[in-house]
Amino acid sequence: MPIYDYQCPSCKKRGSRLQKMSDPSVPDCPRCGTLMQKMISKVAVLLGEEQHMEKMADPAAWGDFDENDPRSLGRMMRRMGQEMGSDELGDEFREVVERLESGEDPEAIEADLPNAGGGGRSNDWLD
Ligand SMILES: [Zn+2]
Repeated sequence: MPIYDYQCPSCKKRGSRLQKMSDPSVPDCPRCGTLMQKMISKVAVLLGEEQHMEKMADPAAWGDFDENDPRSLGRMMRRMGQEMGSDELGDEFREVVERLESGEDPEAIEADLPNAGGGGRSNDWLD
């Protein structure tokens, strides 16, 4: 289950939620009540950090997902990308998926991505 990052378009408050891919709900901003906008936290998905994995309510939902197998990770991310729509994810996401599917080490991929760890498309939100 991926971690979704949200940001309020009005007051710029950010937050994260662990959410099913099939759950389309978007939270209201806890500060001002505006409907928040979804971003994707690529690092959380990409690396499948152990603390996140432990929080997964239903590991069976991941099917054959193996966090230690880059190809498995790549397949999972590609499925997720198809579900979200590729326009939203951008070239960097597609590059990550392709590199994972070719068997590259996720940590090496992350090291090549200057925006990794910054909450994904944060540039869209900065002044
Ligand atoms: Zn707000």
